[in-house]
Amino acid sequence: MATCTRSSTLSRALLLPYLHSRTQTLCEPIRIARFSSTMKQPRPPSLFVRSQAKRGPFLKQDQVAATSDLEFEAPLNIVEYPDPILRAKNKRIDSFDDNLKKLVDEMFDVMYKTDGIGLSAPQVGINVQLMVFNPADEHGEGDEIVLVNPRVNKYSKKTVLFNEGCLSFPGIYADVKRPESVKIDARDINGARFTVNLSGLPARVFQHEFDHLQGILFFDRMTEEVLDSIRSRATGLGKEV
Ligand SMILES: [Zn+2]
Repeated sequence: MATCTRSSTLSRALLLPYLHSRTQTLCEPIRIARFSSTMKQPRPPSLFVRSQAKRGPFLKQDQVAATSDLEFEAPLNIVEYPDPILRAKNKRIDSFDDNLKKLVDEMFDVMYKTDGIGLSAPQVGINVQLMVFNPADEHGEGDEIVLVNPRVNKYSKKTVLFNEGCLSFPGIYADVKRPESVKIDARDINGARFTVNLSGLPARVFQHEFDHLQGILFFDRMTEEVLDSIRSRATGLGKEV
């Protein structure tokens, strides 16, 4: 079982000043949780592996989001595949105002309602560089993490398989191979820059959501064999415009 001590994989000491502060519960165990509601247990790793995941492009040239890009209506709804919003470019955020805080609150709300542990802004129809996650998957437990304009500085050489789901693909779960840990930098909800190392489940959730910010979907990283195993439940994977 994960304990308060083990949750140091989250580099909590580093993240703490930057956590979104809707919860004060800092010692709740981090469970091996699911990305969405219907996965009861992580399956054992598949035997199928593939070369290391593709890296997302560096985003220095990203367009900056205008106020209108961040407009939304609550409650938010999850955008499901094959909506082209999931493949669209996501703009960089440089306005750290009340609207952004409200958007983040709404994203956490829809994430908990749908039993997710991570959510990216394009998944609620907002094409900006923003993600939220909470590996504890319960409001009031664990730490709520908000990353704005995240970048990856370094991936670990070690990779691991994990059975992933995605709120934009209800009912689909499959093994995806990713680096075990990542060093990232990002801005927090107030615009302050920070750097942090993530490993274990937080690194897994981060990489899945970071892919969304590049328009990459989890099946893009599955082996052909794994894809074949889910194709009957997700016809047309990879065939969208
Ligand atoms: Zn997803």
